[in-house]
Amino acid sequence: MNDTKKGKLNIVGIGPGNEEYITPASLRAIQEAEIVIGYSTYIKLVQHLLSDKQIIRTGMTEEIRRAQLAIEESKKGKIVSIISSGDAGVYGMASLIFQVLEEMGWKKSDDPEIHIYPGITAINACASLIGAPLGHDFCSISLSDLLTPWPIIRKRIELAAQADFVIGFYNPASGRRQKQIVEAKEIIEQYRPGTTPVALIKSAYRERQHIIISDLDHFLDYEIGMLTTVIVGSTNTRFFEGYIYTPRGYTNKYNIIEGTVKSGQKPGISLNLDAIGGKND
Ligand code: SAH
Repeated sequence: MNDTKKGKLNIVGIGPGNEEYITPASLRAIQEAEIVIGYSTYIKLVQHLLSDKQIIRTGMTEEIRRAQLAIEESKKGKIVSIISSGDAGVYGMASLIFQVLEEMGWKKSDDPEIHIYPGITAINACASLIGAPLGHDFCSISLSDLLTPWPIIRKRIELAAQADFVIGFYNPASGRRQKQIVEAKEIIEQYRPGTTPVALIKSAYRERQHIIISDLDHFLDYEIGMLTTVIVGSTNTRFFEGYIYTPRGYTNKYNIIEGTVKSGQKPGISLNLDAIGGKND
C-alpha cells in the first residue's frame, strides 16, 4: 500500500428512502465526507447530514459526469461520498465508477482508495412490505432498454419465467416507456397461471408509499411507473392473509406443526423424490 495515498471515494447505498433504513456504516461514510455527490432526490433524503459539506447535485441523465467528478475530486486528496438509492451496486453508480476507473487505467495502489457501503436494495425493501416473496430462488431484471437491447431483456424474462424464478422487475415503466411490462406479462403467462401473485410496490419506505397485491391476470389494471418495483411470484408463491410468500420446501420434508420428519425423508440429506410424490412445496 502506498502511504501517501489520501484520496478516498466512498460509494454509498442509502436504502429505499427513509433514514431508519440507512445502515450506520453508510451514515458514517456520508458524515466523514468533504464532498457529497448524488442525484438531487437522494441528496434531499440526507440533507440534514450535509450542513458543513460541499454538495454536488446532478440530474438523472448525468451519471457519467457524476462518476468522473467523484473520481477527479477524490484523486485530489478529498474524501468524497457518492450516494445511490438502495444499493449502489444494484443498477446504481458503483459499476459505472469501476468502468470509468478501468478506462482511466487506475491501479489499486493509486488514488483514490475505493470503499463500497451496501444498502437495502428495492427488491428487499419491497419484499418486506408484502410478506416473504423471496423465500426461494429469485432474480431481478431491469426493464429499462435505455442502455440494454430489448431482445436481451426479453430473453432473460423468458428464461427466468421458464426456470420458475420469482422475478423482481426494476425500472418497469416510465412516462414514455410503457410497453415493456406488457410484453413481460405476455412472456410470463406462457409459463405461469393467471392466478400467480404479483405485487406492485411504489415508493417503498417513502412518503407516497403505495402497495397493490394482485395477480398475473390483473396487475396491468393498475398504474406502474418509475418509482414502482413489480414482484412476480413463481408457481409456488401463494397468497396468505393479505401477504404473499414463497415456501422454501420445508413441507416436502417435515410436518411443520408437529415438528416431525415425514416418512421416507431424512434431515441433513437430499430430498427423497419418490416420497414427495411429484408435489413440490
Ligand atoms: N440502486 C437502486 C435501484 C435503482 S434502479 C436500488 O438498489 O434499489 C431504479 C428502480 O429501482 C426504480 O425504477 C424502481 O423499480 C426501483 N426502486 C428504487 N427505490 C424504490 C422504492 N423506494 N420503492 C419501490 N421501488 C424502488
